[in-house]
Amino acid sequence: MNDCLFCKIVSGDIPASIVREDAELLAFNDINPQAPLHALIIPRRHIATLNDLSEADDALVGRMLRFAATIAAGSGYSERGYRTVFNCNREAGQSVFHIHLHLLAGRGLAWPPG
Ligand code: AMP
Ligand code: ZN
Repeated sequence: MNDCLFCKIVSGDIPASIVREDAELLAFNDINPQAPLHALIIPRRHIATLNDLSEADDALVGRMLRFAATIAAGSGYSERGYRTVFNCNREAGQSVFHIHLHLLAGRGLAWPPG
């Protein structure tokens, strides 16, 4: 996936502010933060959209959510609260086609989202 921005972050070709990582997942700060904490959690493996997940990825997606919860806890937001969001395809605002879980915290977040 040579043309994928987030694959280039995984490979180190594009720098990112890494928050947490392991063999399967990478979390880094969003370049255009929408809250005091705005991190993106991605799998190292390229998966374009949520529509491309298979049953074999169930544990991976579960790990992405627990990664977000761990980062939120480490930043002191467990009790105050935080939001996790996957955008899927254009009408939902997906602009990078490598799945990523947004983690937002540190301010009141309106509902419903825009
Ligand atoms: P989405 O619109 O859901 O696809 O989210 C893509 C996110 O990636 C946006 O919040 C962007 O600000 C963020 N983003 C784009 N390029 C970079 C980058 N080089 N490093 C970190 N975050 C980025
Ligand atoms: Zn990719």
